[in-house]
Amino acid sequence: HLDFKFIKENVDMIAINCKNRLSNADPYKVVALYDEFVALKSQADSLRAERNENSNAMKAKLDPERRAALISRGQALKEQLAEVEGRLAGVESSLQREGQRLPNLTHPDVPLGGEGEAVVVREVGSPRVFSFPPRDHVALAEGLDMVDFEAAAEVTGQKFYYLRNAGALLEMALVNWAMNKVVSRGFTPLMTPDLVKASVLEKCGFQPRGAGTQVYSISDSPLCLTGTAEVPLAGLYMERVLTQQQLPLRLAAFGHCFRTEAGAAGLAGKGLFRVHQFSKVEMFVLCEPGESEATHAELAALEEEMYGELGLHFKVLDMPSGDLGAPAFRKYDVEAWMPGLGRYGEISSASNCTDYQARRLNIRYRPDASASASSSPTSSGDAAEPQPQQHTAGHKDKKKGSGSGGSSKPEFVHTLNATACAVPRMIVAILETHQQEDGSVVVPPPLRPYMGGLEVIRPPG
Ligand code: AMP
Repeated sequence: HLDFKFIKENVDMIAINCKNRLSNADPYKVVALYDEFVALKSQADSLRAERNENSNAMKAKLDPERRAALISRGQALKEQLAEVEGRLAGVESSLQREGQRLPNLTHPDVPLGGEGEAVVVREVGSPRVFSFPPRDHVALAEGLDMVDFEAAAEVTGQKFYYLRNAGALLEMALVNWAMNKVVSRGFTPLMTPDLVKASVLEKCGFQPRGAGTQVYSISDSPLCLTGTAEVPLAGLYMERVLTQQQLPLRLAAFGHCFRTEAGAAGLAGKGLFRVHQFSKVEMFVLCEPGESEATHAELAALEEEMYGELGLHFKVLDMPSGDLGAPAFRKYDVEAWMPGLGRYGEISSASNCTDYQARRLNIRYRPDASASASSSPTSSGDAAEPQPQQHTAGHKDKKKGSGSGGSSKPEFVHTLNATACAVPRMIVAILETHQQEDGSVVVPPPLRPYMGGLEVIRPPG
């Protein structure tokens, strides 16, 4: 449901946006394919009209010679139409493929450039001052018998881990604490599938196949392992028309995340920092376009509140254009101070994807007829009327929302996603921040109720 007319009319602006976002998608190619598509479609339409005229003419009483001529003309038209329709289908699928690769538009306040251009919007707390040399989380976790990398390397491979004793309890505590926290703020708790169709991943703006993909796929299957519960959450309402009353939908899921981390070989990733599988509680919101900017700020504020409660020191960053990925219109990352690693490390990110995923997944809502139609200044504007595809129309009708205000035209929703708690990096930040000289770790008070009241994780024995 991309608006190819908008893309054609704004192709130069879109090309600059692709460049700013370090995307190799090619809007000029999209426009060329669109032009070809329009020409073939009009050719197919006129051949179809001619064929209909021809068959209508055959209904009259005709002499045999005239009838034979019409039959042979009908046959020729049928063959021509089949040939044009075949080409049309090929061009349409290339058009969709190239169009899907275009990144979202970019919020005007987003800093331009690569990772180094991130702008610090807030800093909370300050780095803890130690009276002893702080250990890193690997030394701490091994000393406390919380983690086993060697066994995991044998059983699975590098960058996998077992959590044991307080390590296992800490993961469960973090997940439960985070889930309870967001549920208390009106999020609906969900457990989602960890395997999803490659087609759904693609519609969410991920690239499931090809060189450099972060996605594990299952051979002989259309399924992939999810890199984030954002994907099954976004997919939950695909091909749906919601009512305005249903919005905002605030969802939170526990999910396992699987990442190949292709290309990350050179990046700092000691111990639990960069692993192939981890647990995460993820927030996801579907809202009216006019609400997405305020919701984005709200999600970022909730993350900050949570990490503050755990006694972490962190910075909030407005991420630059080159680091947004395809779907985000704007993204805030939180980087926490990790005293043992001696650097800040990303622990969460919150993205406003505007209508990017909604267009691809076809998630719409019907504004109340009484309320004025909301259309946001932040909408990606690759906008305007969706063109329902014939073959899915019946399916969509079945699932249509049944609410009031049914007469107004459906609009695409905006979607947002934000990390509530990505477990391994939280463990890194917690162990390294709250360590004591003897190698024990003070459990942050909000987690204690989820760890049987445990206040300090001590070395075994
Ligand atoms: P993302 O979905 O890429 O924004 O990641 C969400 C959060 O998951 C990040 O902010 C990190 O805290 C965490 N994360 C991402 N990749 C990894 C990884 N390979 N290992 C551990 N944690 C990760």
